[in-house]
Amino acid sequence: MDLPRPLSLLRRATLPDGRIVDVELAGDVVTGVRAAGTGAPSANEVDLDGYLLLTAPADPHSHLDKARSWDAIQPPMGDLMGAIESWREYTAAMDEDDVAERALAQALAMLERGTTGIRSHVDVLRGDDPLLGARAMARVRDELDGLLDLELVVLAGPDVPDEHIHGALDLGLDLVGGAPHLADDPSADLQRLLAIALGRDIGVDLHTDESLDGPATLEEFAATVRGWNRNVTAGHCVRLGTLPTEERLRVIDAIVESDIGIVANPITNLYLQGWGHESGGLRGLAPARELLSAGARFAAGADNIRDPFNPLGRSDALETAMLLVIAGHLTIDEAYAAVSDGARAVMGLPAAGAVVGARADFLAIRGGSLAEAVATAPADRKVIHAGRLVASTTVSTTVAQPARSRAAAGAAAAASIAPASATAAPATAPVPSTARD
Ligand SMILES: [Zn+2]
Repeated sequence: MDLPRPLSLLRRATLPDGRIVDVELAGDVVTGVRAAGTGAPSANEVDLDGYLLLTAPADPHSHLDKARSWDAIQPPMGDLMGAIESWREYTAAMDEDDVAERALAQALAMLERGTTGIRSHVDVLRGDDPLLGARAMARVRDELDGLLDLELVVLAGPDVPDEHIHGALDLGLDLVGGAPHLADDPSADLQRLLAIALGRDIGVDLHTDESLDGPATLEEFAATVRGWNRNVTAGHCVRLGTLPTEERLRVIDAIVESDIGIVANPITNLYLQGWGHESGGLRGLAPARELLSAGARFAAGADNIRDPFNPLGRSDALETAMLLVIAGHLTIDEAYAAVSDGARAVMGLPAAGAVVGARADFLAIRGGSLAEAVATAPADRKVIHAGRLVASTTVSTTVAQPARSRAAAGAAAAASIAPASATAAPATAPVPSTARD
């Protein structure tokens, strides 16, 4: 079956600034943004009356190969090292189809909710088939061709030999990744991974300092990649948030100087970090406000979803945005930017949204404002990737009427219908927000 046909008009969409517009498209690009009612009529249009039109979310840090394994593993709740142990035990018996099926289901769930770009880390495994996950994820990327942009990072722990990293890159994975803070010698592992990226002339996306009080490698990372002209990303950066102020601000300056994209992962880090702290007062989150103020390329991802590293997760970028507001004290606009425009910038994807010349990747969501969308995460959505409507959800809800509405309906029925056998007013009514469907 072919992909859905390209759209040429998004009619009557509400933008976050309140304007109601027609958006014209040609192929995968926005060619016009006009006052509603003035766009050229088209057979390939979609009516977005009542929908807020947003730049589509992108998730710059996920683990599709691990997603949806929680129920099968049933791991104990706990911290990062416990999660790694549970995951390793499971991978010993995992097969390629298991990885591919879970990953594809997870990517489609994210697409359904609006995410049209995903960067996923892929574990290089222990045992006799270290590239099983990499092969599975290369398959999944082929399956998703035309539906969303998928970037794959080779996640090489400190015990993964170089030849397996090269093997995964030879399978078509895009970037070098790892977790130097987990190594006995974090500096040596950092330099090893960066040397591989440099040698192959590709980008790098490292799990960086994912602890409240462990190693701090980010400053050395920034110094080593200064002047590199390729995509460089540091995920998590939890330790950065707990460094003394002077040191923290110095490292943030180095991050900006080296143009490292920083990805906060609020849902997983708030879950995994801080179990050993009795008061629970110190929580895990990259210092979002300071990074934004310094002008860093800043984004946020969901990281793990329903696996040993995080039992929860709704596959919805609005959940990550909500956590940036509540736990990171960003404004709602800043939080949504971190999971959309900022995420695309970190991933090296072209800018998208309702701007002439931008990529036609949109999330149209039922509602009138960004605050309402982030707060209530409406299910009714239409997702557009590269100018094509790739997902659409419409729900119907009924709720029993409150007392005054019931009384009014009863009085109206009594007044308009004389016979005693008149039908009673219905006890339920459609919820107004979805009544138009
Ligand atoms: Zn991660």
